[in-house]
Amino acid sequence: MRIAVAGGAGFIGSNLCKSLIADGHEVICIDNYVTGSKKNVATLMDDPAFTLLEADITEGVDFQAEFIFNLASPASPVDYYKLPIETMMVNSLGTKNLLESARKNGSRFLMASTSEVYGDPQIPVQDETYWGHVNPNGPRSCYDEAKRFAEALIMSYWRQYEINFIIVRIFNTFGPFMRLNDGRVVPNFIKQALTGEPLTVYGDGSQTRSLCYVDDLVAGLKAAIFSEAKTEVVNLGNPNEMSVLKLAEFTRRACASDSEISYHPLPVDDPTRRRPDITKAKKLLDWEPKISLTEGLNKTIAWFKGELN
Ligand code: UDP
Repeated sequence: MRIAVAGGAGFIGSNLCKSLIADGHEVICIDNYVTGSKKNVATLMDDPAFTLLEADITEGVDFQAEFIFNLASPASPVDYYKLPIETMMVNSLGTKNLLESARKNGSRFLMASTSEVYGDPQIPVQDETYWGHVNPNGPRSCYDEAKRFAEALIMSYWRQYEINFIIVRIFNTFGPFMRLNDGRVVPNFIKQALTGEPLTVYGDGSQTRSLCYVDDLVAGLKAAIFSEAKTEVVNLGNPNEMSVLKLAEFTRRACASDSEISYHPLPVDDPTRRRPDITKAKKLLDWEPKISLTEGLNKTIAWFKGELN
């Protein structure tokens, strides 16, 4: 199959491109390197099945593919605080440009949406029917509302043109090829634990996240795009929920570190809890995560050690 991956040089994108190439597909990776990097796909450069297109999807890009993954967007809070307009435009105009390509060529389209569409959820476990609790103009709104707009745009393209799509809402994911300084909790804690700096816990650390290892997530993305499921919205993530403070202690132990824990102000609108209901993914895609937090963290720590050297 000929598959386009917008945002293919980013963290999840580059892991996905490698997996698709290993499965024998032809991959067109599209990226403008705002938060992604050529280095992430360096091992694929000599593969004749791999094409790297440097392009900004908000400006339009010429390609043809049977399947399109739209993963193009800054995704770390620190990145989208710095790039709020780029974040809004890539998810709106960028998504529209990819949808036009899907419409012209009859491609199947997968949108990487996010658990952030649920905002600061008022229910403990979030399933796809929950409409969310989002601040429309706070500092996170550039990401949350842009992804919500993308979902609405895709539904509109389906209502008007019957495009073939699936939307996946990705919950917190971690693993190799995350940027050491992308500001997210896992790279921060690992880097701090490995270098003996204090682990920076925001707030009192009682807020929760549920962390999915990237190989599991990539398997979920492939299961979603290659499934028969049409016009569906599906959560992808690991339901293993844990407080940020517990994650700090867990990471410190996994790194055999004696770093201290330091407390810092909680970012505005930081969601207090997040845990996916993945009943739908299990039923519809026959998918569920298999890699434990310990195994995933150990692999990620080993990779970060290499990056720090
Ligand atoms: N966090 C933290 N220390 C850090 C980075 C993040 O305590 O050095 C917290 C953050 O406040 C949030 C959680 O960890 O509650 C996850 O943050 P991240 O930026 O990874 O992603 P988010 O889930 O907020 O999009």
